[in-house]
Amino acid sequence: MPSFRTLDDLDDVMGKRALVRVDLNVPMSDGHVTDDTRMRATLPTVTELADRGAIVLLLSHFGRPKAPSPEFSLSRVTRAYEEVLGREVRYVDWEVAEENVAMLRPGDVAILENTRFFGGEEKNDPAVVDRFAKLADFYVNDAFSAAHRAHASTEGLAHRLPAYAGRAMEAELKALQKALGEPERPVAAVVGGAKVSSKLEVLRHLVTRVDHLIIGGGMANTFLAARGVSVGKSLCEHDLTGTANEILDAADRANCTVHLPYDVVVAKEFAANPPSVRTCNVHEVAADEMILDVGPAAVEALGDALKTCRTLVWNGPLGAFETPPFDRATVALAQTAAALTQSGSLVSVAGGGDTVAALNHAGAAADFTFVSTAGGAFLEWMEGKELPGVKALLRD
Ligand code: ADP
Ligand code: MG
Repeated sequence: MPSFRTLDDLDDVMGKRALVRVDLNVPMSDGHVTDDTRMRATLPTVTELADRGAIVLLLSHFGRPKAPSPEFSLSRVTRAYEEVLGREVRYVDWEVAEENVAMLRPGDVAILENTRFFGGEEKNDPAVVDRFAKLADFYVNDAFSAAHRAHASTEGLAHRLPAYAGRAMEAELKALQKALGEPERPVAAVVGGAKVSSKLEVLRHLVTRVDHLIIGGGMANTFLAARGVSVGKSLCEHDLTGTANEILDAADRANCTVHLPYDVVVAKEFAANPPSVRTCNVHEVAADEMILDVGPAAVEALGDALKTCRTLVWNGPLGAFETPPFDRATVALAQTAAALTQSGSLVSVAGGGDTVAALNHAGAAADFTFVSTAGGAFLEWMEGKELPGVKALLRD
């Protein structure tokens, strides 16, 4: 495994100032944080550094501001973060950053204002890197979810200050390495969700890496159409059937077995428990029906395939899981994967916004080996891309 500098490489940090890149871009509604998962992910690093006597300065983006404005101020999440951390947290505005930071004591924790209040943050502008760097002695990146971006706070700083991976970043990199870097074989990948077009590169990369590629969700419809199956009114990218066939051919050449559903759950309208819902063979979908889930026979076969595998990586639900009964295939396969993981026969890694929601819905997330909450970064990693924020932490 490529080697990263971590907090274990830091000697005495007493009284030293640490710029720690975290992801405090949390969802909010009516001024309240509605999901504090990202905040909790920062706790191991922040607590460890503060306990070791460092002065902890948190850097994060928050939303997509075009110019500095109160709506995008990280002061809005400071109280919520304080509650999650269980210690006092200060908020530091950019105008007074140097003076305020100079007054902090060992063990203090502060949230600096939104990094995107600087136009140069997203351009990785050296002047912005300087502005951040002069506040601290070293840099820690604990935001895997932002590591696919070469911004001043995610990449530039790693070249300007001594740089280390935080504990959450370290755990994420280790899990991803286990799943696709040097995995135990056979390896299965589940790719589902809504759009083929947004996951084409993922599929292209995976067919050369995995032994079983399980295609579900709306993605499967495009592949079924490419094989000449009538998919009725299903969500399907008909203009991509040529590309789908290319991927199927590439899989053949790479000895990757592609699993497409042979039975499906269909309905005439997309609603909860519609009267028209039925299960049928993929060749029996009527022109006025749409495929909304993988069928029970196919799910059982997929479960059997997983039993022969040692490693699983999963992105995208198998069906429209938010609407019953179209959650059944996702729930069943997630529970099988969870049980295999708990019995020690499978390493399971999953990621993607809706995938995490689906695994939680199935009550399976806690039993997976690792669930990544990073959306874009996780997909770019599944495409086999090198993430700039990760690369910058490599030990040379
Ligand atoms: P992730 O966020 O985990 O990467 P995606 O955003 O690609 O996942 O896809 C999730 C969406 O795909 C869900 O909202 C789900 O309802 C939808 N979906 C899955 N299967 C189907 C289907 N057969 N028809 C329509 N939508 C589907
Ligand atoms: Mg999504």
